[in-house]
Amino acid sequence: MRREYDAVIVGAGGAGLYAALEASSAGRVAVVSKLYPVRSHTGCAQGGIGAALGNLEEDHPEWHAFDTIKGGDYMVDQMAARILADEAVQAVYDLENMGLPFSRTPEGLIDQRRFGGHTRNFGEAPVRRACYAADRTGHMILQTLYQQCIKHEVDFYNEYFVVDLLLDGSSCVGLVVLELKTGELHTIRSKAVMLATGGFGRMFKTTSNAYANTGDGPALALRAGIPLEDMEFYQFHPTGIAGMGILITEAVRGEGGILRNRRGERFMEMYAPKLLDLAPRDLISKAILSELKAGNGMRGDRQIDDYVLLDATALGKKVVEEKIPDIADFCRTYLGIDPATDPIPVQPTAHYAMGGIPTDVHGRVLGAGGGACPGLYAAGECACVSVHGANRLGTNSLVDLVVFGRRAGRHIADYIAGASLRPLAAGSEDGARDKVKRLKTGRGAHGGAIREAMQKTMMEKVGIIREGEEGRSAVAEIEALRDEYRGARVDDAGAAFNTDLLELLELENLLDLALVTAHAAARREESRGGHTRDDFPERDDARWLKHSLVRLVSGVPEFSYKDVDTSLYPPKPRVY
Ligand SMILES: Cc1cc2nc3c(=O)[nH]c(=O)nc-3n(C[C@H](O)[C@H](O)[C@H](O)COP(=O)(O)OP(=O)(O)OC[C@H]3O[C@@H](n4cnc5c(N)ncnc54)[C@H](O)[C@@H]3O)c2cc1C
Repeated sequence: MRREYDAVIVGAGGAGLYAALEASSAGRVAVVSKLYPVRSHTGCAQGGIGAALGNLEEDHPEWHAFDTIKGGDYMVDQMAARILADEAVQAVYDLENMGLPFSRTPEGLIDQRRFGGHTRNFGEAPVRRACYAADRTGHMILQTLYQQCIKHEVDFYNEYFVVDLLLDGSSCVGLVVLELKTGELHTIRSKAVMLATGGFGRMFKTTSNAYANTGDGPALALRAGIPLEDMEFYQFHPTGIAGMGILITEAVRGEGGILRNRRGERFMEMYAPKLLDLAPRDLISKAILSELKAGNGMRGDRQIDDYVLLDATALGKKVVEEKIPDIADFCRTYLGIDPATDPIPVQPTAHYAMGGIPTDVHGRVLGAGGGACPGLYAAGECACVSVHGANRLGTNSLVDLVVFGRRAGRHIADYIAGASLRPLAAGSEDGARDKVKRLKTGRGAHGGAIREAMQKTMMEKVGIIREGEEGRSAVAEIEALRDEYRGARVDDAGAAFNTDLLELLELENLLDLALVTAHAAARREESRGGHTRDDFPERDDARWLKHSLVRLVSGVPEFSYKDVDTSLYPPKPRVY
């Protein structure tokens, strides 16, 4: 393996690949990925990528930006949202020109469908803004970008796990990676490093996220002394397959699917009379919980406690097979039903991290003092720009990846042209080597039990509805699990493809993020977007219209706050 690069991108999802592609114009670039690139979670994105192309009806980037800001319950930095919406349009055309096979209208234009919270004329009614490739949009984005990276001679280190960031002061100078095939540790020197490691839904028991979504990037940043932003805002998607969490895309509702309770009622009529089943996700997840609490859930017949039904039967077989073929497959495989004829049992599932590593609009990571850390970048779900605020709208993550992944890549290209490689301190690998040795010689419990306990605590006490006392007990439980982790051991002490070790390294990252998430949730005494407090049910702009930043100093959280950019649309109550 080459040990020196102009830029190393950690992660081969949409954000990492787009950045690598852009940066490759200015120097030698490598992508390091613990997965084979096209297995990254971006490949699971089903429903679409939002851009105001206006192909089927009038639409404007201003409307898209406004929906994003309102959808995020006004925690969104508004100029960043404007960039997101403005640049989305060209980004989609660029993907099209790279060969992405979008679904088409009969006239040959990119087809667009409705999605939650995306509206015409500042909230009047749903608008067709989501561009899509059937229900495999992310898969197509990933394949397209990967091919382009190969064409532009980006080097790939697949199945290499990043264990440490190497910093000199606040500048990033390289990283330490574990080669999964051999178990060897290597250091790589680089002028710039970008974290694009995706989300961390695996912190929760029921999630739509892949096994690899363990938040390694934010945890590396946290251990390097960088504060994480808005960690209390975690999104639960309303429609996971009941009892499993596997995602049923919002596109099903975009195409006309309806949520019903056990009496067959379209209950969203009560909670969002205007947008109904296309209200933002936080509102729908809470509405489902209210229905279940009121005894309106389905129960008994699937040995799952409580769920509601997503009824797509009105779509008919042709539309189902054409527009949501993968969803139809999931339903047949996991439930033994056909969504064209049977309603789908659904429950909310942990889905998306709005918070993460703070960056500016060029992807530069912002350190403890608020200034950019030279040579360190982040983009995608692991980063917080912040364009999703307290609740992300569907289709806006894929936009975030391509818009801010590309912006970060462009900035890296400029940066590496003027920067030089820095020497690494002696013994750069020692920390990682000691850690691996400790896990191989630990005498405590195996990590699996710790993981299950963490997921249960987070699901029950830091889930959709939170409460102060419970939050504090969640913190105490996660702290105890972190203590237990210090003595944890692997069963497999081997070197080659030691997935037992890999999972334990990932668990450390999840535990760190669970701790700061629980702390941040216990601290924010209001309800906003994806963060709902039973004991503080109202949004409280006077006290809490501010981003939280949390660092861990010897395991103890240190909080600070920063203003939200509200320069375009003053915060208003959300009515849908
Ligand atoms: C089921 C599902 C459906 C979705 N549908 C949509 C949708 O329709 N529209 C939408 O906008 N959003 C959707 N989302 C959200 C969106 O897909 C994700 O937020 C987004 O794809 C994340 O992309 P990313 O590039 O940040 O990271 P990912 O695609 O998750 O990639 C992370 C990369 O980091 C690498 N990595 C992680 N840790 C390490 C490490 N320690 N060392 C080396 N490499 C590492 C991995 O190998 C991987 O390559 C969906 C999400 C899910 C789970």
